[in-house]
Amino acid sequence: MVLLEAMQELPTRDEARRLDQADPLSAFRAWFHIPQHDGEDAMYFTGNSLGLQPKRAAEALQVELEDWATHGVEGHFQGRNPWVNYHERFTSGLCHLTGAKPHEVVAMNGLTVNLHLLLVSFYRPTGRRKKLMCEAKAFPSDRYALCSQIRMHGGDPAEDLIEVAPREGEHLIREEDWLAAIAQAGDELATVMVGGVNYYTGQWHNLKAITQAAHAVGAACGFDLAHAMGNVPLQLHKWNVDFACWCSYKYVNSGPGAVSGVFVHERHVRDEDGHGTLMPRLEGWWGHDAASRFKMDPEFIPMPTAEAWQLSNAPVLNMAVHKVALDLFEEAGMGALRERSLRLTAYLEQVVQCVAQRTGTDLEILTPNDPAQRGCQLSIVAHGHGRSLFDHLMAQGVVVDWREPAVIRMAPVPLYNSFEDIARFGKVLEDGLLAHGQG
Ligand SMILES: *Cc1c(COP(=O)(O)O)cnc(C)c1O
Repeated sequence: MVLLEAMQELPTRDEARRLDQADPLSAFRAWFHIPQHDGEDAMYFTGNSLGLQPKRAAEALQVELEDWATHGVEGHFQGRNPWVNYHERFTSGLCHLTGAKPHEVVAMNGLTVNLHLLLVSFYRPTGRRKKLMCEAKAFPSDRYALCSQIRMHGGDPAEDLIEVAPREGEHLIREEDWLAAIAQAGDELATVMVGGVNYYTGQWHNLKAITQAAHAVGAACGFDLAHAMGNVPLQLHKWNVDFACWCSYKYVNSGPGAVSGVFVHERHVRDEDGHGTLMPRLEGWWGHDAASRFKMDPEFIPMPTAEAWQLSNAPVLNMAVHKVALDLFEEAGMGALRERSLRLTAYLEQVVQCVAQRTGTDLEILTPNDPAQRGCQLSIVAHGHGRSLFDHLMAQGVVVDWREPAVIRMAPVPLYNSFEDIARFGKVLEDGLLAHGQG
């Protein structure tokens, strides 16, 4: 990777445009609807919250609506994408993003629902081994899920939930502290469940090292990949992760509330003879072996795949857009996207540092400066500034996430953000800091 020189001057739009023109991946922006502001493209940096709409989304939905209109129930077999096997359309794209084997992934449900389904299988406190470990200040939904799981088993979150925190005065969790916390919990640790990329700081934890440490003390290990999927390259199978789940409406661009997905490692989905496992899980008919599913037998025979965790038939209208969104990743290639992502985020970092220097503002970047420990998101604190800065950014067409007191979370997404977006943002930020001064 070629790092750019330290910036003295903010880049002009023309300079940034030349960088875009030199990168073939810039062409993918044209496949997305970019929200407009004052007659030009908004500077949309909230793909970490809701990814933009692929232009092929409407057509993908239309296909299913037409097939429903034309075929009624026969659409399950005669539709262009037969609904009976609909979930199988996503296997290839999900493998591309997760580094899973085809039998280790399935698209289904919502993220928090899937987290619960996986914890039913992978958090089974027994004897001394009762503790569940996560990061401090985990995404609230995850924490609610973890605490309610502990209570479901008769435990007390105050006792059984271990939250690993950054050291005093730091924002990030050091890898050595993860490993030490896991080793210390030892044979009391049942399960580790961490947000793979932290939603607030953008820190990408070392999933491989955490998994290894958890296994070394006999614990199961899984991740919520909401902010990792489509953002950083993953090798879940190789890293030996037990389970994972994610959503598809953030970096994966599949639409508001769109379908989640899960990964369950091969060793948990099939035995040596290739049969599905009988590990504890909540079961439904879509997890039943497909070959005999419609015999409607009373006994459950599990699929020898992650599909054993499926409960229901696919909500086709929710899932139609997921396919076109995943296809874009396969067309661009996650490896190439990651390369572009590294360059875009380094560029944003330099622009922010340049603005800080030119305006005499303390702009603190909470996100790790080591590219190996982050995806594309930067979380920036504008010390000494407040809401008026955010209002200025919004009024100028910059779409970022704002948290009090003055934390700007923003993600230059390699599929559709451009160097030009970042150069424009730099100018707006500088003007805002100069115009609004302190407070
Ligand atoms: C976005 C996000 C969620 C959202 O959960 P849903 O069930 O999809 O509403 C949960 N956890 C994390 C870590 C997230 O980033």
